[in-house]
Amino acid sequence: NPTRTALQDCLAALEGGTHGVCFASGLAAVDTVVRTLSPGDHVVCGDDVYGGTYRLFTTVFAKVGIRFSFVDLSDPDVEIPEGTKLVWAETPTNPLLKTTDIQSLADKAHAVGALLAVDNTFATPVFQRPLSMGADIVLHSTTKYLGGHSDVVGGALITSNDALAEQFTTLQNSVGAVPGPWDCFLTLRGIKTLAVRMARHDENAKALVAWMRERDDVAKVIYPGFGGMVSFVLKGDLDAAVRFVKATKIFILAESLGGVESLIELPAIMTHASVPPDVRASIGIDDGLIRLSVGIEHIDDQREDLEQAFAAAKG
Ligand SMILES: *Cc1c(COP(=O)(O)O)cnc(C)c1O
Repeated sequence: NPTRTALQDCLAALEGGTHGVCFASGLAAVDTVVRTLSPGDHVVCGDDVYGGTYRLFTTVFAKVGIRFSFVDLSDPDVEIPEGTKLVWAETPTNPLLKTTDIQSLADKAHAVGALLAVDNTFATPVFQRPLSMGADIVLHSTTKYLGGHSDVVGGALITSNDALAEQFTTLQNSVGAVPGPWDCFLTLRGIKTLAVRMARHDENAKALVAWMRERDDVAKVIYPGFGGMVSFVLKGDLDAAVRFVKATKIFILAESLGGVESLIELPAIMTHASVPPDVRASIGIDDGLIRLSVGIEHIDDQREDLEQAFAAAKG
């Protein structure tokens, strides 16, 4: 399909790769990468990856004999064991927004003959281009910032490795999780404003972070220093956090992220509900952790909305 080809070429150019391969969803793109492996192969994966990625790895692929270990890839001393076939990194991570030194991780992966895949959904190529730092594969859920308007679902893989691109294209054709031409058109149209949208997401997020860091009702603000994703821990219990997310009007209560409109969610009971509670606790996803996808509305409207939610959370 020519519209899909246009999108694939556009994404490859944005990430500085030679091949782009598009799918019907971000998860279909994740699925495709793991399908290049064989039973018995070992994958080292970040420990707070997107909940759906975690579920796909631990339920669907663990069952067919692919082995996964979950480690903190943001730890500069992390070791990649001999025999690893694939390292799966998300940076910044979701929802704790931890960052990884991609170049150093790529060197460690390559030293044991493993490939490095980086899920670049949160950063977008505006803030980070993993292929230029040694990654072999870049993944996007184009559902998020690339599409940018919460009206299309899609995914993509970008690489400069010809052999990998050949495998991805064969799987795209054999498995059939392809995007339709209309989806590709909407994504291409979204990408036309990616740079200006990201600048505004970044500007608004930085202003909200500075404002929240001064507040007594916030225990912690988590922000990687760029982009539109902000997480914070509200003081109080889960009920207070639920009151908070129910009170906002500009920040719509919903999963997903990266659209022009602001979204708010509670990872413990929404995006990361499929991660077992003990695992959540061990990696620091508190019950009071609230994730914001800061949109491009006027900053005064965003601040006013959160201000009244802080009041509502007090009950
Ligand atoms: C949403 C998301 C995915 C999955 O993408 P879908 O398009 O929803 O299937 C993968 N990784 C990250 C970081 C995401 O936010």
